[in-house]
Amino acid sequence: MLNRIFRSLNSLALSLLWVGIFFGLSGITSNRLNAEDQVVLTTLHVSPKLAQADCHLLEFPDGSKVLIDAGLGVDAPRRIIVDYFKKRQITFLDLVIISHCHKDHYGELLHLIKSGVKVGRVIVNVPDPIFNDTETFAGGYDHRDVQTTLNFLAQQKIPTETPTTGQRLWNGSRDGHFPALLEVVYLYDGVHGPNGKGDVNDTSIIVRLSYGKTRVLFTGDLNYKLGKYLADNSNIYDLRADILKVPHHGAEGLAPNEFFDKVAPKVAIVSAPKTLWFSLRDKRARDYLNHLKAKTYVSGLDNDIIVTIFKKYYTVKTTSSKPQVKQEPKVATP
Ligand SMILES: [Zn+2]
Repeated sequence: MLNRIFRSLNSLALSLLWVGIFFGLSGITSNRLNAEDQVVLTTLHVSPKLAQADCHLLEFPDGSKVLIDAGLGVDAPRRIIVDYFKKRQITFLDLVIISHCHKDHYGELLHLIKSGVKVGRVIVNVPDPIFNDTETFAGGYDHRDVQTTLNFLAQQKIPTETPTTGQRLWNGSRDGHFPALLEVVYLYDGVHGPNGKGDVNDTSIIVRLSYGKTRVLFTGDLNYKLGKYLADNSNIYDLRADILKVPHHGAEGLAPNEFFDKVAPKVAIVSAPKTLWFSLRDKRARDYLNHLKAKTYVSGLDNDIIVTIFKKYYTVKTTSSKPQVKQEPKVATP
């Protein structure tokens, strides 16, 4: 008898798994993957070689879409994001948020628009030109390239806007009737602020998505100095989130462990190539997320990471060729 119950539970679990895989795979090839009450977050694997990059697509039930970052890794094949949009037949983004002005976060935006994707508006925090002189390393702030991008957006009549801390960026649907919210947790210009001068990574627009019981925190490349300031002032800036887009590809220099403590994520998403994730540079993030028992997904290992957020829980799956059974749905607070 017990055996029979076990067997039927087992086959139920298997069918649920297959249903998950079926919907997952069918979703990847269709433009509209939303049922009426879901928000879908897809972190695209755009760091296939040695260099890292970020790209996160949010899809809402009415078909509206928000893209957070359109990054280009310096050694990555250029067309990853464009090809994904073509495959999904996505031709319109209501909003694009560039977390900060490094190419691994905005470098593909022009190509995406030139490929035919229309964009409603762009949220961007353009750093002070002084950073052009201080960031001379590869992939550092390139004021001229950022101006070229901004000029192109102006020619295309795509409005750009710099938000402020607390600003609501997206209300969940075009008519604002869907109860999800994307808002700015913190933003400064990298120069003037209570935490003093930082670097371009610290100009990252820190954004939170809230829907039902789930919160997702997007941190761009938030570095140590601002990360410490936010952790020290978490009574003002509520950092708690179920899912954390780990800052700065997990690389050293990123927000301190106190920041991770304040967020207390159950799930962590890292945009990083495999080599970076397993390197010494990512060791602190790797160890600390492990210590926090956060289930960690890394684009370089898991490929695209797809979080489906329902009102009371969320699931995470990936397009990795690893057995999907390892990617069991993750339930927050049912
Ligand atoms: Zn970056």
